[in-house]
Amino acid sequence: MISDSFGKPFVHCEKDVLSTARSERNVTRYETRLGAVYRLEARVLPYLTGSVYLFPSRETTGFWTLVDAGSGGKESSADLKSAFAVVRERFDPSFSPSAIRRILLTHAHIDHFGGVYELTRMNGAEVWLHAFESRVVSAYDACAIVENMRYVNFLRECGIPDAQIEPILDGFGFRPGRAKSVPVARKLLGGERFDSIDVVYLPGHSSGHVAYLYGDVVFTGDLLLSKTLTQIWPARTTPQTGLLNYISSLMKLRELAESYERARGCKLVAFAAHEEPILDIPERVARAFRGLERRNQRLLGIMREENAPLSIAEIMPKMYWSGRPNREFFALSDVASRVELLLQLGAIQIVDYERVSPSSPTLRYRPSFSDTKATENTVEQVLRMNAARNETQLFERKA
Ligand SMILES: [Zn+2]
Ligand SMILES: [Zn+2]
Repeated sequence: MISDSFGKPFVHCEKDVLSTARSERNVTRYETRLGAVYRLEARVLPYLTGSVYLFPSRETTGFWTLVDAGSGGKESSADLKSAFAVVRERFDPSFSPSAIRRILLTHAHIDHFGGVYELTRMNGAEVWLHAFESRVVSAYDACAIVENMRYVNFLRECGIPDAQIEPILDGFGFRPGRAKSVPVARKLLGGERFDSIDVVYLPGHSSGHVAYLYGDVVFTGDLLLSKTLTQIWPARTTPQTGLLNYISSLMKLRELAESYERARGCKLVAFAAHEEPILDIPERVARAFRGLERRNQRLLGIMREENAPLSIAEIMPKMYWSGRPNREFFALSDVASRVELLLQLGAIQIVDYERVSPSSPTLRYRPSFSDTKATENTVEQVLRMNAARNETQLFERKA
């Protein structure tokens, strides 16, 4: 299915997409194989800049697609509004914000979907995203209430005292009333193809994260960022996330880039939702694997250094400097997702589980093995697991 969209093989690429960049204020125009794609930058959260992408349909005149929609915050909306004006005035007079007929979301985190309410009210555009996260957009408050209830249990298990739980969740901000619900026109599952766009399901950063493949570019949302490691969550609080799913999705993205390069002789460029576009996806994925492994080993190192078993709340400040109070939930989730993987691989174990009860839910961990065994490359083990899983599928297909 995906290979169809690669078109004829062995087409020589004169230059890569990124070298065609032309910038005006917060807008960059790229010449892709399928035409112009605009990257619009906006201050989506107080500490975070995001990129949304805009391009005209290949099939319908006056029909534009927006990938992600900003946070809906004051600065985010103002930045997008001025970016739309730049696209129209400096690049393409046929564009107007009312020509945005479809908003494709990579995933339903607030910095990506918070802007859909205002945009769809303005132009009636349809909102499409993966089925697993569609309710966050269409029934935001209901999801926020239920998710927060799960997070309370999670934080108690981490060893956070009850009095600190609500402030930590306030800092995280997935609270009822923060975003307005918007109807979802189409729930995606992955594998769909429309208007020269292929939907690729790549969960891990969130349960319904997708990438959109469009000619020689792929809109990858928060799956892979050019510099920093993206946020990981434990699968125990958010299904289809966790390091196992995340690493599988990175492998899938790398395969996509490699098969594109084999078929077309040029590079597939990742247009990420934060930081810079990524020209060499396989190299970036390899670097992400090394970064993930370094952090896993650091966590094991922290546990080995301590003589006593540690809870996730005790590991977190040893692992991460937490200068910003609203980062606590992110840091705890990151540590918890690593602990989850190390437990699954048997590198660590839960201790004094006999004392765990609903009134005393904190779990504590210690390494299982001697130093040599514990330093086994954990990401490598997951890669081998994935390879083995794929081999089994091939065998079944042949049989
Ligand atoms: Zn995200
Ligand atoms: Zn994001």
